[in-house]
Amino acid sequence: MAKNNNSKNTENNKLPIETKLVQQYYKEVFDPGDLISIIGLSTFYRREFAFLLENDVFVRNISFKSTSGLVNYLVRNPIKRAYIGAVYDVPPTKNNTIQKIKWKSREFCFDLDLNDYDLVRICGCQGKEQYCKVCWSLVQDAATFLDRTLRDDFGFRDIIWVFSGRRGFHGWVRDKEAGILTQEQRNSMIQYLTLIKDEKRTQAVEKDLKHVLPLRDRIIEMVAKTFFQKATVKELRAEPFKFTKKQIERLQYNLKNSTRPFHYTYDSILENKQDRDAIFTHIITYRYPRIDRKVSIDIRRILKIPGSIQDTNGRICCKVDIKKIHKFYPENAPTIWDLLS
Ligand SMILES: [Zn+2]
Repeated sequence: MAKNNNSKNTENNKLPIETKLVQQYYKEVFDPGDLISIIGLSTFYRREFAFLLENDVFVRNISFKSTSGLVNYLVRNPIKRAYIGAVYDVPPTKNNTIQKIKWKSREFCFDLDLNDYDLVRICGCQGKEQYCKVCWSLVQDAATFLDRTLRDDFGFRDIIWVFSGRRGFHGWVRDKEAGILTQEQRNSMIQYLTLIKDEKRTQAVEKDLKHVLPLRDRIIEMVAKTFFQKATVKELRAEPFKFTKKQIERLQYNLKNSTRPFHYTYDSILENKQDRDAIFTHIITYRYPRIDRKVSIDIRRILKIPGSIQDTNGRICCKVDIKKIHKFYPENAPTIWDLLS
């Protein structure tokens, strides 16, 4: 299987991207209106911005009175990466650093990155740029599952997803109530969403979820179903499943033909299995969303600006419609060269 698209090899020749080109992009193509549609205008002047500049100079505690101030900065400086942080009570500056001023709000953000799946990428892809359809489906499924869970279990309504520029997605929960969640509150929500506490041990995840049935059922409908759709007969014969030939046939028949929710199939196939928990844990380990906890919990954390350029490949961190996320691959994100030609 091709691990990389062909166009990338030619694009590698264009790296590093010329500063002149980056500045032209921010001048002619970058639309601050798109960013405002995500972060809102009223608190813009009290937002922290941060930039990685040429020669790896990293600057934080920057704020702008207006979007044209931001655009001017992007056009005049040698930007490698552009980031956005939280809203404070006064504009962050060199003298009024974010440690000195009062934090006010920040979207509840999620970072899904293929990096975090390296141990369970069975396709053989590794490293920072490699991906294929097999492992990319992990982050596509993770975004879909999280989006549903954030809406159904926490009641959020305004969630957008952005291609992170390389191997994953950023989720931005924009609901007002989400923005003012404290670090402790974010932490406990992430606890709820994190199921594997110790990678090396088999855990009683399904038992733990017996009082959280909506989450358990959603895992079976979305995560377990996909796991079984993609599993090979060899995997299903092995530990922890040890399915018989008959069980595998029944499973595959139901996956193709049954119109009932998948938990009927799941429960009937596993009916007399002693090791339900081991099976559930195995599925969670291989296909359940892996969230970068720090990004979600740390209220001062910065995240790449939607619409900015990923310096390692020239791709734009573009918005992705969650309903079409299964059709989105990194090569679908426009590049700076596409947009300037
Ligand atoms: Zn892969």
